[in-house]
Amino acid sequence: MPTDDSVYSYSAVLMGSPILLKLFSNNQPLASHVFNLIKHYEDLFTVNRADSQVMDINHAAGQHPVKVTPAVYQLIKCAKAASILPGSAFNLAIGPLVKRWRIGFKGDSVPPADEIITLLTITQPEDVILNDAECSVFLAREGMEIDLGAIAKGYIADRVRDLLQKEGVTEGLINLGGNVQTLGTPQGSWSIGLKKPFSTSDALVGAMEVSHKSVVTSGTYERYFEQDGQRYHHILNPQTGYPLDNELDSVTIISTDSLDGDIWTTLMFGAGVEKGCRMLNGRDDIEAIFVTKAREVILSSQRHYRFTLLDDSYRLIERTA
Ligand code: FAD
Ligand code: MG
Repeated sequence: MPTDDSVYSYSAVLMGSPILLKLFSNNQPLASHVFNLIKHYEDLFTVNRADSQVMDINHAAGQHPVKVTPAVYQLIKCAKAASILPGSAFNLAIGPLVKRWRIGFKGDSVPPADEIITLLTITQPEDVILNDAECSVFLAREGMEIDLGAIAKGYIADRVRDLLQKEGVTEGLINLGGNVQTLGTPQGSWSIGLKKPFSTSDALVGAMEVSHKSVVTSGTYERYFEQDGQRYHHILNPQTGYPLDNELDSVTIISTDSLDGDIWTTLMFGAGVEKGCRMLNGRDDIEAIFVTKAREVILSSQRHYRFTLLDDSYRLIERTA
């Protein structure tokens, strides 16, 4: 649907998320191609239906390895590598806890503490056994479940970028609901809004000007529920089995690949501002924006984008790495 003289926006709902594609020519066939590609990957990666390649692996937990397509294998390999980094908050084997909490789905509630302790024993990333030669994945313990919810959108955003490039698109944008990937530099840059946590859906804390970059945001305000006056959000601490509890409302990562953005938002969520900024030392390609509960917007650096604060109830702090 054309929105003005030059930008054409196409939308869909896939992966339980609003999807937005922006192009600079009216090209419905290409938009359909993009949505079909996203659907193809959703069908491979989803754990929200009984059938997918990831669910085939989960159904065979404790029994036998499952051969998968190279895309599924590579993404699981990448997710395992992020999960076994020392002190990592990322854990691809977090599935049993995600399923038990059901945060963002019907029937969410705080599980009994002893159940969480039991489920933690079947969330070890080391128990995801990979076989490069066979392209197979084996979950060593019964009841284990892989969940790629924290990384699959990043992977898919990058594949959409690749498809658009292959089709000769020089300027475009895909937003998978939290994962934005951009091509080209219309009018010099793209302006991507940074959402104001726990506010109306169009309220912004600020905006990032980017070119050829991915912008990924993870927040505690997107999927959560409240019980007995306490808020429980969907990013779980792999050590405790409860939602990560620190000074953060959201983390945004600016990077070339959205896959990196998706991994690093979770890593940064676990690390918090101080440790997170230290982890980014020497990573010129990865930049973080932390929005804290204390209404600060903290930039780890500002090398590959420009940030503008739009809400003066927030304080902008730029770290010098
Ligand atoms: P991120 O912060 O990137 O990821 C949070 C998600 O990762 C959690 O929701 C959980 O799934 C998982 N997770 C939690 N803690 C950790 C951890 N410590 N380490 C690693 N992972 C963790 N939503 C629907 O409502 N209905 C659907 O049918 C549906 N289908 C989907 C299909 C696919 C293929 C994908 C990728 C997502 C789908 N979703 C669906 C959305 C999904 O349930 C998550 O809410 C979403 O992926 C979270 O993305 P995010 O960027 O908001 O959060
Ligand atoms: Mg993520």
